[in-house]
Amino acid sequence: MRLWIKDPLTILAEDAARGVVVEGTRIVETVGTGREPVHPVDAVHDASAHVVIPGLVNTHHHVYQTLTRAHPKAINKELFPWLQALYPIWTKGLSPEAFRLAVRLAGTELLMSGCTTAADHHYIFPAGLEDAVDIEVEEARALGLRMTVTRGSMNLSVEDGGLPPKAAVQDEETILADSERVLSKYHDRSDGAMIRIGLAPCSPFSVTRSLMKATAELAERHDCRLHTHLAETHDENDFCLSKFACRPVDYLEEVGWMSDRTWLAHGIHFSDDEVARLGRHGVGVCHCPTSNMVLASGQCRTRELEAAGVPVGLGVDGSASNDNSNLMEGVRHALMIGRLTYDATLSHLDVLRWATKGSAKCLGRDDIGEIAVGKQADLAMFTLDELRFSGAGDPLAALVLCGAHRADRVMVAGTWRVVDGLPVGVDVGRLRHEHGQAARAFLDLL
Ligand SMILES: [Zn+2]
Repeated sequence: MRLWIKDPLTILAEDAARGVVVEGTRIVETVGTGREPVHPVDAVHDASAHVVIPGLVNTHHHVYQTLTRAHPKAINKELFPWLQALYPIWTKGLSPEAFRLAVRLAGTELLMSGCTTAADHHYIFPAGLEDAVDIEVEEARALGLRMTVTRGSMNLSVEDGGLPPKAAVQDEETILADSERVLSKYHDRSDGAMIRIGLAPCSPFSVTRSLMKATAELAERHDCRLHTHLAETHDENDFCLSKFACRPVDYLEEVGWMSDRTWLAHGIHFSDDEVARLGRHGVGVCHCPTSNMVLASGQCRTRELEAAGVPVGLGVDGSASNDNSNLMEGVRHALMIGRLTYDATLSHLDVLRWATKGSAKCLGRDDIGEIAVGKQADLAMFTLDELRFSGAGDPLAALVLCGAHRADRVMVAGTWRVVDGLPVGVDVGRLRHEHGQAARAFLDLL
């Protein structure tokens, strides 16, 4: 079946003014001005009301945190006290059933915002939730969301000088054995893969040196991505200096993570020299503008990082530090905080590039993030019929400046996953009800 997505209002792609032809999971043709498709087509989708962009790629999330949004114990705090308030609540409350609903809810929100690929950083495995990665893979498959599910970890508890409580951590042996298990079971390195596994020790203040090193070796063996939080706050820099007698980037180097296999969440507090070093090694950075503003963590040096050769992507983070999973909204926030950091020449195309091509690069993928022949047919299509867009001139700029937050149609690997603004195969009302009920239990843990 070949589908022509015909005559878009605007499309973010080279030489594709008359749209694209999709066959199977891929884009097989871009159709330029004044041309007809070369391939015979079986069906046509009239895209004349649609602004078409590559499906957005979310490179950092903690979907389980949707269960503790705007939690009264955690609001209005910076990162460390915010985490200290939430660790015990997550540890006590996170059941497999609640986690499953969290994955489903966050995945649905992401799809509805125009996101087609997401990386989730899941690092908390309280007793009973040993199968978190399996649950996540199952739900991603059911939703049709492309994912890099990361097997996260924490093994440095407060008793050993870390930040999380004892009940929130696992031992190194258990972590590595489960990492091997999920890599062998789910990691798909093929072009167009719907599921990949990454390894993601949580942060310098919750993981031992030894686990960081062993994880890097394991990633090398299985050819998978490495992910962690780094340089998010001044508190973290202070922690590294006192615990490891070095700054976070020195620590990263010491544990064998300075490679193009690695992408970091946040990456805010880097010196000029550290920015250059990250660029030399091809380490990626996922910028999380919304979370950085909510937790008052600081401003990512996106321009300097990109100039140094660092792949820069975007992430929603959270969602207890966002507190939603809307990547299109994150694109707008990236523009705003970027302009505040630099100047008004930071454009809507810059932030859209981070959310697509840049994010794809962070995930080590060249088959997504762009509308071009041979790439996966991952598309986000927005209409401009809401009041907020009325009067807008440039349609692509309007998406970002007027605040697009809900896609009308979303295609992942050639299949429609959102139609008329609604997710295919998901009862939104029921999901809202069930997830809301599961989340209420976390309020009782006060
Ligand atoms: Zn995070």
